[in-house]
Amino acid sequence: MNISILTVFKELYTPFFSTSLLKRAQENGLVSYDIHSFFEYVKPKERIDAPPFGPGTGMLIKPEVVERAIDEQEKKHGRAFKIFFSPQGKKLDQTLARSIAKKMQETGHLMLVPARYEGMDARVENHYADLELSIGDYVLMGGDLPAMVLLESVIRLMPGVVSKEESLHADSFTGPFLDYPEFTEPVTWKGVSVPD
Ligand code: SAM
Repeated sequence: MNISILTVFKELYTPFFSTSLLKRAQENGLVSYDIHSFFEYVKPKERIDAPPFGPGTGMLIKPEVVERAIDEQEKKHGRAFKIFFSPQGKKLDQTLARSIAKKMQETGHLMLVPARYEGMDARVENHYADLELSIGDYVLMGGDLPAMVLLESVIRLMPGVVSKEESLHADSFTGPFLDYPEFTEPVTWKGVSVPD
């Protein structure tokens, strides 16, 4: 299973993938991460972005840069299930996370394409995106945190990632109930005791 990430700021992912279950999933051979910056697909001093036609402000990532990056990753790892990120996309919830985890298992290659600036040229998303994903009705500076939110939700659903898989069955949004309150030591804290 490979996860490709095509981004402007690939350095954001270094601490993310070297921590906790995401790191262990890679060490145990369950998943590999292949992260590239769009700057790798332009000549030195060439821009990856250009201003939009019309009245809009800000810059858009150029379609041919994204095309080169996607083509290279698909040549290397095979056809991917490709997710782009946008506040206008389909909103992430546990049901969607489960269906993306399933797609990821079926294809063996998940590709995440988070944008920055004002986003992507719309033709690129129309041409390539199998899914355009939003993590909520607010606007962030880029799609990298949404990509990480998605990864935290889907990778823990992969068999073998969470050591006690039965804990997944008790999670909120999995059955008809939300998770229940839990307690640990000490038995009494700030005058409040753990229920019998
Ligand atoms: N002008 C765009 C709009 O109003 O819909 C927002 C562009 S935003 C500054 C730049 C990029 O951040 C977006 O193209 C998207 O990739 C990402 N992004 C921002 N908010 C997001 C959200 N809530 N969910 C997913 N991606 C988001």
